[in-house]
Amino acid sequence: MIISMRPHASKEEVDHVCERIREFGYKVHSIVGEERVVIGVVGVGDVTACLESLEATPGVERAVRISAPYKFVSKEFKQERTQMDINGLEIGGSEFIVMAGPCSVESERQIMETAEGVREAGARILRGGAFKPRTSPYDFQGMEEEGLKLLAKAREATGLAVITEVMSDTDVRLVAEYADIMQVGARNMQNFALLKSLGKCGRPVLLKRGMSSTIKELLMSAEYLVAHGNPHVLLCERGIRTFETATRNTCDIAAVPVLNEMTHLPVILDPSHATGKRSLVPAIARAAVAVGADGLIVEVHPKPEKAVSDGAQSLTLAGFQSMMSQLQPYIRLWKEARLSELAAAV
Ligand code: PEP
Ligand code: MN
Repeated sequence: MIISMRPHASKEEVDHVCERIREFGYKVHSIVGEERVVIGVVGVGDVTACLESLEATPGVERAVRISAPYKFVSKEFKQERTQMDINGLEIGGSEFIVMAGPCSVESERQIMETAEGVREAGARILRGGAFKPRTSPYDFQGMEEEGLKLLAKAREATGLAVITEVMSDTDVRLVAEYADIMQVGARNMQNFALLKSLGKCGRPVLLKRGMSSTIKELLMSAEYLVAHGNPHVLLCERGIRTFETATRNTCDIAAVPVLNEMTHLPVILDPSHATGKRSLVPAIARAAVAVGADGLIVEVHPKPEKAVSDGAQSLTLAGFQSMMSQLQPYIRLWKEARLSELAAAV
């Protein structure tokens, strides 16, 4: 069950509702928003009696029965799409958002050249890893704070917002000083200490699906972020591990419409990690637009052959520009569909 309190309900009203819930034998998990308090009710008990009683309790606006274990991120809890403003950019609304940039921040020249190139081609957010989760401990681990500073410099020069990965709960404060969106990598999707601390980081989080994780597990991890206070979560499909070896991962393109049925959170597709191969990226990007993703996150490098990580799947600047032009007719159709959906929702 989810209990949505009236906007600006008093503390006494909220406390009274929580007390009633406990009397029915449930546990309470509340989220205090700017306008209202939303209370998650967890446990087993007499749902119908509890719902009926709470609906008649002062301060309560709505009491809804929710069967999914991920309550706050479910469509049952909230029908309307979650939209978020990132530096004046609306994600989850009527714009298809493209995030692009190198796998790793390598140098000032590399990040500046990439930022300018991707912005010219229509990207709105710059990606780049400063903390890198590498499979081998001997591989390049990232420029860390120096890399974060270069990202901030690129943001200043281009006006692009910045997304970068945070790998550990001890780095959350540092990364949040520089990033507009905090990225949780596939390998960290179930790092619960990290998720809990990102609940309070004050920045939107892009949560990548773990390579062996189900959609339900992805939603449970998103629930951690929301339950710990952060409603600004973007989900990212980046390919999963299967028996197939022709691609680096298997792009679960169906995950996009499945997630759109299950949750109100925006869904971003990463065609770079999903394929591992530059030549396949544009086709999967088109597919993402067609199936209703809210945006893309794409790896781009001015000289992919010299990239310290993920060169084989990185587009050149020219390749990115050409992909963006190819996407335009698809994005126009996407926008028409999205605008009519948003108009029907009001
Ligand atoms: C990345 O975005 O460079 C990355 C490491 O992605 P993932 O966590 O999806 O492997
Ligand atoms: Mn990468």
